[in-house]
Amino acid sequence: MRKDGRENDQIRSVKITDNYLMSPEGSVLIEMGNTKVICTACVEESTARHLTGTGRGWVTAEYAMLPGSTGSRKKRDRGKTDGRSIEIQRLIGRALRSVVDMEKLGERTIWIDCDVIQADGGTRTASITGAFVAMTQAMKKMKDAGMIDEIPIIGFVSAISVGIVDHEEILDLCYEEDSRAMVDMNVVMTDKGEYIEIQGTGEERPFSADELARLLSLAQNGCSALHAKQKEIIGEL
Ligand code: UDP
Repeated sequence: MRKDGRENDQIRSVKITDNYLMSPEGSVLIEMGNTKVICTACVEESTARHLTGTGRGWVTAEYAMLPGSTGSRKKRDRGKTDGRSIEIQRLIGRALRSVVDMEKLGERTIWIDCDVIQADGGTRTASITGAFVAMTQAMKKMKDAGMIDEIPIIGFVSAISVGIVDHEEILDLCYEEDSRAMVDMNVVMTDKGEYIEIQGTGEERPFSADELARLLSLAQNGCSALHAKQKEIIGEL
């Protein structure tokens, strides 16, 4: 039995509140248990510099944790983003770009901002799941405004963590589990069951191909549950 009473193959309770903020074209608050992240999507009418003149757009992401989001105060980034945040924001950007048709988006940039207001493990995976909803909301507004003819999305994206803790294979680790995991993995998937990114580490011991296959199967179930939540809000695209 896990600390919060969950089964090994059970995700935390998920709540996605859409249109959470007034100004950005897309915004959600995503809550996965005690982890809470505000994800926003803002549209800029120019693409990344290296894509100017190509007709293609760009999606980029930034990630940060509020000072009070965690037990010991997290220092604010002042000019210099810490290495962990850089790694996470690049992951979020890659995950979202993999399902966007950049030609249909046109020469525009969608800026994704993920701000963790409370951290209890799985902040990068919650960011990806929430940011996908915020991004599609922004695209719907662009379509309503006649900026694009169709929503330039080729699949849904969600992400979840899996790991081996106390020799047990478990889904959706909270901080207490994450901090003593023998094996720790973040999995990003489409709603067609395809992988976008797998970040897996043998923190305390190596893991076998069989363990990897079982962990990926756990992750697949978790991501499907999250895709269903996303579809409740967004509908089919
Ligand atoms: N954490 C923290 N302060 C930090 C970094 C991480 O309190 O500066 C905690 C936080 O609860 C986070 C967890 O450690 O969710 C796991 O961090 P990790 O780097 O594995 O990323 P995450 O699981 O949040 O994607």
